[in-house]
Amino acid sequence: MASTTAPASVLGLGLMGTALASALIKAGHPTTVWNRTRSKTGPLVAQGATPADTAREAITANELVIVCLTTNDSVRSLLEPEAEALAGRTVVNLTNGTPGQARELADWAAAHGITYIDGGIMAVPQMIATPAAYILYSGTDEAAFEAHRPTLAALADTKWVGKDPGLAALYDLSLLTGMYGTAMGVAQAFALIGSEGIPPLEFAPLLTEWVVAMAHGNIAGAAEGLATGQHLTDVSNLAMNKAAFPNFTSAYEAQGLRTDLFAPLQDLLDRAVEQGHGEDGFSRLTLLLKKD
Ligand code: NDP
Repeated sequence: MASTTAPASVLGLGLMGTALASALIKAGHPTTVWNRTRSKTGPLVAQGATPADTAREAITANELVIVCLTTNDSVRSLLEPEAEALAGRTVVNLTNGTPGQARELADWAAAHGITYIDGGIMAVPQMIATPAAYILYSGTDEAAFEAHRPTLAALADTKWVGKDPGLAALYDLSLLTGMYGTAMGVAQAFALIGSEGIPPLEFAPLLTEWVVAMAHGNIAGAAEGLATGQHLTDVSNLAMNKAAFPNFTSAYEAQGLRTDLFAPLQDLLDRAVEQGHGEDGFSRLTLLLKKD
């Protein structure tokens, strides 16, 4: 098992990579850093990091190599030429990506004798190393993850989600889907209330209280319906929501707003009712999102 101050290398010092490297340094881990644009190493070197001139130099400095670039295409283009240097080491890839990309990278790594752990960061850079942050991890070699867990714990709480390398990305994208859905609703709500000049700061507390209260019930209700297969509801059925929804889209139109974000929900509600699910609750909608 790695000591509590085991060394690590960080490749990619954007907003997130810099926060990750800084957290390692603050926790006492000797940290080697590399970034394509070298000037970004400056602030970390001031904190005690060792700068590497090349990615290979950073890779060969330590057994644990943490990567955080913009996309997995950039990760592939950076790591593929370094396969030999990476052999026998552990790559923890915290770049946002898809389950398929994670599985492909894991296969590539396995073929070159590299241990690969994929990760999904559930935090913004400012939350790194605070109790609010956690990172999801998955990979075929759980023992390697456990060995590095004390080091990774310096970044954020660690949540292991399984031996399929794609699982961390699957959880990550699913959680972010919930976030983006809320962001869309918030954007449309401010557009609607703002169309009559209501100040956003006046409306914000009402919106927060409402969205948070509804989220609890909606998530619990959807999970219960999906888990039990019992979608009937006495709370808010789909037929009622289908009937009410034209009020939303026509109000958006009348207030000079676009309807693109929410028009698809009318289609979904129409389809649910056409298929005989009018008495069901929102949990039914999840089933209608599968392609035929
Ligand atoms: P930034 O845009 O701040 O940084 C991107 C980093 O990727 C830079 O270090 C950049 O190098 C490097 N990079 C891009 N392309 C290449 C390449 N071809 N070769 C080498 N290096 C490359 O992004 P963030 O740090 O914010 O995000 C990094 C990852 O973390 C993303 O996948 C993001 O989705 C994820 N993430 C970010 C969060 C956030 O709130 N910021 C939250 C959760 C996840 P250079 O400096 O030279 O351009």
